[in-house]
Amino acid sequence: MSKQLYDNHGRVVNYLRLAVTDRCNLRCFYCMPEEGINYVPKKELMTYEEMERIIQILVKMGIEKIRITGGEPFVRKNMMDFLRTLKSIEGLKKINITTNGTLTAPLIPELKKMGINSVNLSLDTLDKDRFFEITRRDELEKVMHTFEELIRYEIPTKINMVVMEGKNEADIIEMAKLTKDYPVGVRYIEEMPFNGAGSNHQQLKWNHRRILKELKNSFPDIQKIPDPPFSTSHNYQIPNHKGQVGIIAAYSRTFCGTCNRIRLTPQGMLKTCLYDDGIFNIKNLLRNGATEAQMETAFLDAFQNRAKDGFEAEGRRKFGIPVSESMATIGG
Ligand code: SAM
Ligand code: SF4
Repeated sequence: MSKQLYDNHGRVVNYLRLAVTDRCNLRCFYCMPEEGINYVPKKELMTYEEMERIIQILVKMGIEKIRITGGEPFVRKNMMDFLRTLKSIEGLKKINITTNGTLTAPLIPELKKMGINSVNLSLDTLDKDRFFEITRRDELEKVMHTFEELIRYEIPTKINMVVMEGKNEADIIEMAKLTKDYPVGVRYIEEMPFNGAGSNHQQLKWNHRRILKELKNSFPDIQKIPDPPFSTSHNYQIPNHKGQVGIIAAYSRTFCGTCNRIRLTPQGMLKTCLYDDGIFNIKNLLRNGATEAQMETAFLDAFQNRAKDGFEAEGRRKFGIPVSESMATIGG
C-alpha cells in the first residue's frame, strides 16, 4: 500500500489539477498576450500514456479527484479518449473539467454518458462586445450554447468569472441573476497577475470584499452559506434563487490554510502551490526510467518542504522573479 500524500503542515493532498495542454483558441487578456505565448514544444508535453501512469501512482497515494484544465483541454486531440481512460482508473472518484466552452457543446451528451462529475465554464461576461474585448475572439454564442447544453444534460455546472476593473463590473449582477432560474454556481474570481506578459500587476481593484459589497447592494438579503471542505470560494445564497454565488479570493489568498491540491503543468512540472515556480519535473523522472517507488518518494519529498501559503510560495520563487507566466501553462 502506498503512503497517503500529506504535506509538512499536516494537510492531506487528495486533489490533482492537471493542465493537459498550454494551447488555447481564446486570448483572454488576463491570461495571455494577444500574440499568444511560446507554446511548449510537442515533445516536451506529457503524452496521454505518461499522464495516465502518473495519475495511477497518485491515485494509489490518495488522490481521489482530478480536474482537467489547460490551456483549453478540448483543443488537444483525442481528449475524449483520455477522459474515458481516466474513468476506468479505480479509486479515482471524481473527474471535473474546466473549459472555455467554445468547443464543448457538441461533446456534452458524451461527457454526460461518461459520468463526468462537473464542469466549470469560464465566462466573464454575457455581453458580446465585452466578450470580444476580454477574449479577443467572437465566440460568445458558442459558449452560451455550451451553457445551455450543460443545463439540459444536468451536468453540475459552475461559471467562473474573473472580475476586472473597467471590463466587466456590469456583469457582476447580471451573472448573479443567472442563479435565479438556473441551478448553477457563479464564482467571482479575483484577477491574478498570471497574464503571460511579464508586466507588473497593478493594484487589485476588485478584491473579494468589494465584490461582496457590490452583491449586497443589489441583493441585501444575500446569505452566507457553509463552504464545503477544502472550498476555495466563500459561498452565498440569494433567497429564492436556484443556484448559489461564490467569491474566490485568488489574489488575496484567504483559502491556503486548507489547500489539498497538487498541480501538474502540461510539461510535467509539479507545483505544490499555484504561486510557486515548480518543484520538479515528474515527466523527466519517468522518461529517465524511474520506478514507481522512486516516483512516489519524489512526490512525498516535494510536499515535505511545501510553503504554508501562496505568499510564502511566491517569496520562494527562484531569483525573486515575480509571478507573470500565463495561467494557460498552469491551469488555474
Ligand atoms: N481554458 C480553460 C478555461 O478558460 O476555462 C481552462 C484553463 S484557464 C487557465 C482556467 C481558469 O483560470 C479560468 O477560469 C480562467 O478564467 C482562470 N484564469 C486565467 N487567468 C487568470 C488570471 N490572471 N486571474 C484569475 N483567473 C485566471
Ligand atoms: Fe484560454 Fe482559458 Fe487562458 Fe482564456 S483563460 S486564454 S480560455 S486558457
